[in-house]
Amino acid sequence: MLKKWTDDEMKILQDTHKTIPELHMLLPHRSPESIRIKAGKLGHLRTGDALLRNSSNYLDLLENSQFKEVVDGELLGDGCITKGSRGYSTFALTCGNKGYAEYLHSVMAPLLNSKSKVHYRTTKPHSINGKYISPRPQYCLRYAHKVFDHFYDRWYSPKKCIPSDIELTSGVCLHWYLGDGSITSNRTLQARLSTDSFTEKEVERLASQLKQKTLAPKIANERDGIYIVHFFGKHALDLLDYIGPCPVESLNYRWNTSGYSIYNKTCRCGRKFKSSGFVESWKKYCSSECQQKFKRRKN
Ligand SMILES: [Zn+2]
Repeated sequence: MLKKWTDDEMKILQDTHKTIPELHMLLPHRSPESIRIKAGKLGHLRTGDALLRNSSNYLDLLENSQFKEVVDGELLGDGCITKGSRGYSTFALTCGNKGYAEYLHSVMAPLLNSKSKVHYRTTKPHSINGKYISPRPQYCLRYAHKVFDHFYDRWYSPKKCIPSDIELTSGVCLHWYLGDGSITSNRTLQARLSTDSFTEKEVERLASQLKQKTLAPKIANERDGIYIVHFFGKHALDLLDYIGPCPVESLNYRWNTSGYSIYNKTCRCGRKFKSSGFVESWKKYCSSECQQKFKRRKN
Protein backbone atom coordinates (compact mmCIF):
# COMPACT_ATOMS: atom_id res chain seq x y z
CA MET A 1 0.00 0.00 0.00
CA LEU A 2 1.36 3.36 -0.98
CA LYS A 3 1.99 6.07 1.53
CA LYS A 4 -0.64 8.76 1.87
CA TRP A 5 0.01 11.86 -0.19
CA THR A 6 1.35 14.70 1.94
CA ASP A 7 0.26 18.31 1.62
CA ASP A 8 3.73 19.17 0.26
CA GLU A 9 3.46 16.52 -2.44
CA MET A 10 0.00 17.71 -3.42
CA LYS A 11 1.30 21.24 -3.62
CA ILE A 12 3.88 20.09 -6.19
CA LEU A 13 1.09 18.54 -8.27
CA GLN A 14 -0.60 21.94 -8.41
CA ASP A 15 2.11 23.29 -10.72
CA THR A 16 0.28 22.66 -13.95
CA HIS A 17 3.07 24.08 -16.08
CA LYS A 18 5.07 20.95 -15.35
CA THR A 19 4.76 17.80 -17.35
CA ILE A 20 4.42 14.41 -15.69
CA PRO A 21 8.12 13.48 -16.24
CA GLU A 22 9.06 16.81 -14.63
CA LEU A 23 6.78 16.11 -11.68
CA HIS A 24 8.30 12.64 -11.41
CA MET A 25 11.78 14.19 -11.05
CA LEU A 26 10.46 16.12 -8.03
CA LEU A 27 8.62 13.10 -6.66
CA PRO A 28 10.95 10.20 -7.57
CA HIS A 29 9.36 7.87 -4.99
CA ARG A 30 6.02 8.11 -6.84
CA SER A 31 5.50 6.44 -10.20
CA PRO A 32 4.55 8.62 -13.20
CA GLU A 33 1.27 6.73 -13.37
CA SER A 34 0.33 7.41 -9.74
CA ILE A 35 1.32 11.07 -10.23
CA ARG A 36 -0.96 11.24 -13.25
CA ILE A 37 -3.86 9.66 -11.39
CA LYS A 38 -3.46 11.72 -8.23
CA ALA A 39 -3.07 14.98 -10.15
CA GLY A 40 -6.12 14.08 -12.21
CA LYS A 41 -8.16 13.38 -9.09
CA LEU A 42 -7.14 16.73 -7.69
CA GLY A 43 -8.18 18.35 -10.96
CA HIS A 44 -4.70 19.61 -11.79
CA LEU A 45 -3.82 17.38 -14.73
CA ARG A 46 -5.51 14.77 -16.83
CA THR A 47 -3.99 12.00 -18.92
CA GLY A 48 -0.65 13.68 -19.15
CA ASP A 49 -2.05 16.93 -20.44
CA ALA A 50 0.28 19.54 -19.04
CA LEU A 51 -2.23 22.17 -19.96
CA LEU A 52 -1.53 25.68 -18.90
CA ARG A 53 -4.29 26.00 -16.40
CA ASN A 54 -4.38 29.72 -16.21
CA SER A 55 -7.83 30.74 -17.29
CA SER A 56 -6.83 34.22 -18.31
CA ASN A 57 -8.16 33.61 -21.80
CA TYR A 58 -11.42 32.14 -20.49
CA LEU A 59 -13.56 35.18 -21.23
CA ASP A 60 -11.89 35.75 -24.61
CA LEU A 61 -12.67 32.17 -25.58
CA LEU A 62 -16.31 32.54 -24.55
CA GLU A 63 -16.54 35.48 -26.93
CA ASN A 64 -14.64 33.70 -29.71
CA SER A 65 -17.27 32.68 -32.25
CA GLN A 66 -14.86 30.45 -34.21
CA PHE A 67 -14.07 28.48 -31.06
CA LYS A 68 -17.75 28.19 -30.18
CA GLU A 69 -18.58 26.92 -33.68
CA VAL A 70 -15.86 24.26 -33.49
CA VAL A 71 -16.94 23.01 -30.07
CA ASP A 72 -20.69 23.10 -30.78
CA GLY A 73 -20.15 21.34 -34.12
CA GLU A 74 -17.98 18.63 -32.56
CA LEU A 75 -20.50 18.14 -29.75
CA LEU A 76 -23.22 17.53 -32.36
CA GLY A 77 -20.98 14.65 -33.42
CA ASP A 78 -18.95 12.41 -31.14
CA GLY A 79 -17.28 15.06 -28.99
CA CYS A 80 -18.08 14.93 -25.29
CA ILE A 81 -17.45 16.92 -22.16
CA THR A 82 -17.04 15.47 -18.71
CA LYS A 83 -17.48 17.60 -15.67
CA GLY A 84 -14.48 17.80 -13.41
CA SER A 85 -15.44 17.31 -9.78
CA ARG A 86 -12.56 19.43 -8.59
CA GLY A 87 -10.87 20.65 -11.72
CA TYR A 88 -12.16 22.07 -14.96
CA SER A 89 -14.40 20.23 -17.38
CA THR A 90 -12.68 18.20 -20.09
CA PHE A 91 -13.51 18.05 -23.78
CA ALA A 92 -12.67 14.70 -25.36
CA LEU A 93 -12.99 13.26 -28.83
CA THR A 94 -11.90 9.89 -30.19
CA CYS A 95 -11.88 9.20 -33.91
CA GLY A 96 -10.36 6.83 -36.42
CA ASN A 97 -9.04 9.40 -38.87
CA LYS A 98 -5.54 10.66 -38.15
CA GLY A 99 -5.73 13.67 -40.47
CA TYR A 100 -8.96 14.81 -38.90
CA ALA A 101 -7.63 14.43 -35.33
CA GLU A 102 -4.51 16.41 -36.26
CA TYR A 103 -6.52 19.10 -38.00
CA LEU A 104 -8.88 19.51 -35.04
CA HIS A 105 -5.94 19.60 -32.64
CA SER A 106 -4.27 22.29 -34.75
CA VAL A 107 -7.44 24.37 -34.44
CA MET A 108 -8.23 23.79 -30.76
CA ALA A 109 -4.90 23.46 -28.97
CA PRO A 110 -3.56 26.96 -29.77
CA LEU A 111 -6.83 28.58 -28.70
CA LEU A 112 -6.72 26.65 -25.42
CA ASN A 113 -2.99 27.18 -24.84
CA SER A 114 -2.84 23.41 -24.58
CA LYS A 115 0.45 21.56 -24.71
CA SER A 116 -1.33 18.22 -25.03
CA LYS A 117 -0.80 15.93 -28.01
CA VAL A 118 -2.98 13.71 -30.10
CA HIS A 119 -2.92 10.36 -28.32
CA TYR A 120 -2.74 7.24 -30.43
CA ARG A 121 -4.01 3.81 -29.48
CA THR A 122 -5.42 0.74 -31.16
CA THR A 123 -8.62 -1.00 -30.23
CA LYS A 124 -8.32 -4.59 -29.03
CA PRO A 125 -9.38 -7.26 -31.50
CA HIS A 126 -12.82 -8.51 -30.53
CA SER A 127 -15.88 -10.14 -32.02
CA ILE A 128 -19.40 -8.91 -32.52
CA ASN A 129 -21.98 -11.67 -33.12
CA GLY A 130 -19.19 -14.09 -33.91
CA LYS A 131 -17.65 -11.75 -36.49
CA TYR A 132 -14.00 -10.93 -35.94
CA ILE A 133 -13.31 -7.20 -35.61
CA SER A 134 -9.65 -6.47 -36.24
CA PRO A 135 -7.75 -3.82 -34.24
CA ARG A 136 -8.27 -0.29 -35.45
CA PRO A 137 -6.25 2.84 -34.83
CA GLN A 138 -7.84 5.51 -32.69
CA TYR A 139 -6.79 9.08 -32.15
CA CYS A 140 -7.83 10.83 -28.96
CA LEU A 141 -7.96 14.50 -28.10
CA ARG A 142 -8.46 15.71 -24.54
CA TYR A 143 -8.43 19.24 -23.21
CA ALA A 144 -9.28 20.38 -19.70
CA HIS A 145 -10.12 24.06 -19.52
CA LYS A 146 -12.40 26.32 -17.56
CA VAL A 147 -14.21 27.31 -20.77
CA PHE A 148 -15.64 23.79 -21.03
CA ASP A 149 -17.51 24.29 -17.73
CA HIS A 150 -19.66 26.71 -19.71
CA PHE A 151 -20.16 24.25 -22.60
CA TYR A 152 -20.98 21.50 -20.11
CA ASP A 153 -23.71 23.61 -18.53
CA ARG A 154 -25.18 24.35 -21.98
CA TRP A 155 -25.01 20.81 -23.31
CA TYR A 156 -25.57 18.42 -20.40
CA SER A 157 -28.41 17.90 -17.96
CA PRO A 158 -26.72 15.46 -17.18
CA LYS A 159 -27.35 13.57 -20.47
CA LYS A 160 -26.03 15.29 -23.60
CA CYS A 161 -28.83 17.30 -25.20
CA ILE A 162 -28.94 20.08 -27.74
CA PRO A 163 -28.75 23.54 -26.16
CA SER A 164 -31.65 25.87 -26.82
CA ASP A 165 -29.29 28.57 -28.10
CA ILE A 166 -27.53 26.44 -30.72
CA GLU A 167 -26.97 28.28 -34.00
CA LEU A 168 -26.37 26.01 -37.00
CA THR A 169 -23.95 28.30 -38.80
CA SER A 170 -21.90 26.97 -41.69
CA GLY A 171 -18.95 26.52 -39.29
CA VAL A 172 -21.00 24.47 -36.83
CA CYS A 173 -22.36 22.32 -39.67
CA LEU A 174 -18.87 21.86 -41.11
CA HIS A 175 -17.62 20.41 -37.82
CA TRP A 176 -20.76 18.32 -37.43
CA TYR A 177 -20.17 16.89 -40.93
CA LEU A 178 -16.44 16.36 -40.32
CA GLY A 179 -17.18 14.58 -37.05
CA ASP A 180 -20.28 12.62 -37.90
CA GLY A 181 -21.14 13.00 -41.57
CA SER A 182 -21.02 10.60 -44.49
CA ILE A 183 -21.85 10.44 -48.19
CA THR A 184 -22.90 7.77 -50.64
CA SER A 185 -23.08 8.27 -54.36
CA ASN A 186 -24.25 5.13 -56.03
CA ARG A 187 -27.51 5.41 -57.94
CA THR A 188 -28.35 8.55 -56.02
CA LEU A 189 -26.38 11.08 -54.08
CA GLN A 190 -26.99 11.12 -50.36
CA ALA A 191 -25.23 13.06 -47.59
CA ARG A 192 -25.94 12.22 -43.96
CA LEU A 193 -25.43 13.78 -40.58
CA SER A 194 -25.63 11.31 -37.71
CA THR A 195 -27.14 12.29 -34.39
CA ASP A 196 -26.81 9.15 -32.37
CA SER A 197 -27.77 10.29 -28.90
CA PHE A 198 -30.38 12.93 -29.56
CA THR A 199 -34.15 12.49 -29.27
CA GLU A 200 -36.53 12.79 -32.21
CA LYS A 201 -37.73 16.16 -30.91
CA GLU A 202 -34.19 17.50 -30.73
CA VAL A 203 -33.38 16.27 -34.23
CA GLU A 204 -36.56 17.92 -35.53
CA ARG A 205 -35.43 21.15 -33.96
CA LEU A 206 -32.07 20.86 -35.75
CA ALA A 207 -33.81 20.04 -39.05
CA SER A 208 -36.13 23.00 -38.79
CA GLN A 209 -33.16 25.29 -38.24
CA LEU A 210 -31.42 23.79 -41.29
CA LYS A 211 -34.57 24.54 -43.30
CA GLN A 212 -34.30 28.17 -42.23
CA LYS A 213 -30.84 28.09 -43.85
CA THR A 214 -32.67 27.02 -47.05
CA LEU A 215 -31.36 23.46 -46.79
CA ALA A 216 -33.67 20.49 -47.30
CA PRO A 217 -33.02 17.86 -44.63
CA LYS A 218 -35.06 14.69 -44.16
CA ILE A 219 -35.07 12.82 -40.86
CA ALA A 220 -34.87 9.03 -40.86
CA ASN A 221 -35.27 6.72 -37.91
CA GLU A 222 -32.24 4.56 -38.64
CA ARG A 223 -32.90 2.09 -35.87
CA ASP A 224 -34.61 2.22 -32.52
CA GLY A 225 -34.32 5.78 -31.34
CA ILE A 226 -31.37 6.59 -33.63
CA TYR A 227 -32.10 9.47 -35.99
CA ILE A 228 -30.18 10.52 -39.05
CA VAL A 229 -30.51 13.70 -41.07
CA HIS A 230 -30.31 12.99 -44.83
CA PHE A 231 -29.87 15.24 -47.83
CA PHE A 232 -30.76 13.68 -51.17
CA GLY A 233 -29.57 14.58 -54.65
CA LYS A 234 -29.12 18.28 -55.22
CA HIS A 235 -29.87 18.93 -51.55
CA ALA A 236 -26.62 17.14 -50.73
CA LEU A 237 -24.83 19.59 -53.05
CA ASP A 238 -26.55 22.43 -51.20
CA LEU A 239 -25.27 21.10 -47.88
CA LEU A 240 -21.69 20.87 -49.17
CA ASP A 241 -22.04 24.35 -50.59
CA TYR A 242 -23.21 25.64 -47.24
CA ILE A 243 -20.36 24.15 -45.20
CA GLY A 244 -17.65 25.07 -47.72
CA PRO A 245 -14.54 23.18 -48.85
CA CYS A 246 -13.08 20.24 -46.93
CA PRO A 247 -10.22 21.34 -44.64
CA VAL A 248 -8.83 17.80 -44.14
CA GLU A 249 -7.20 16.04 -47.07
CA SER A 250 -7.96 12.55 -45.78
CA LEU A 251 -11.67 13.41 -45.64
CA ASN A 252 -11.87 14.78 -49.19
CA TYR A 253 -13.82 11.67 -50.20
CA ARG A 254 -16.73 12.98 -48.17
CA TRP A 255 -16.95 15.91 -50.54
CA ASN A 256 -16.78 13.67 -53.60
CA THR A 257 -20.13 13.80 -55.33
CA SER A 258 -18.99 11.58 -58.27
CA GLY A 259 -19.90 14.18 -60.86
CA TYR A 260 -23.44 14.62 -59.60
CA SER A 261 -24.42 17.98 -61.05
CA ILE A 262 -27.23 20.38 -61.65
CA TYR A 263 -28.03 21.05 -65.32
CA ASN A 264 -29.78 24.16 -66.57
CA LYS A 265 -32.35 23.27 -69.19
CA THR A 266 -34.98 24.95 -71.29
CA CYS A 267 -38.33 23.26 -71.77
CA ARG A 268 -40.10 23.31 -75.14
CA CYS A 269 -42.60 25.63 -73.50
CA GLY A 270 -39.76 28.12 -73.14
CA ARG A 271 -39.49 27.87 -69.36
CA LYS A 272 -36.03 27.33 -67.86
CA PHE A 273 -35.68 24.55 -65.33
CA LYS A 274 -32.98 22.59 -63.54
CA SER A 275 -32.41 18.87 -63.55
CA SER A 276 -29.79 17.00 -61.58
CA GLY A 277 -28.00 13.70 -61.79
CA PHE A 278 -24.66 11.94 -62.31
CA VAL A 279 -25.01 12.42 -66.06
CA GLU A 280 -27.01 14.96 -67.93
CA SER A 281 -30.49 13.54 -67.80
CA TRP A 282 -32.83 13.01 -70.76
CA LYS A 283 -35.36 15.18 -68.99
CA LYS A 284 -36.68 17.60 -71.62
CA TYR A 285 -39.79 19.03 -70.04
CA CYS A 286 -40.26 21.29 -67.05
CA SER A 287 -43.37 19.50 -65.83
CA SER A 288 -45.47 16.41 -66.39
CA GLU A 289 -48.06 18.69 -68.04
CA CYS A 290 -45.50 19.78 -70.65
CA GLN A 291 -44.33 16.23 -71.12
CA GLN A 292 -47.88 15.10 -71.91
CA LYS A 293 -48.61 18.09 -74.09
CA PHE A 294 -45.48 17.90 -76.27
CA LYS A 295 -45.26 14.13 -76.44
CA ARG A 296 -48.85 13.91 -77.62
CA ARG A 297 -48.18 16.49 -80.31
CA LYS A 298 -45.24 14.46 -81.57
CA ASN A 299 -47.28 11.26 -81.89
ZN1 LIG B 1 -42.56 23.38 -69.90
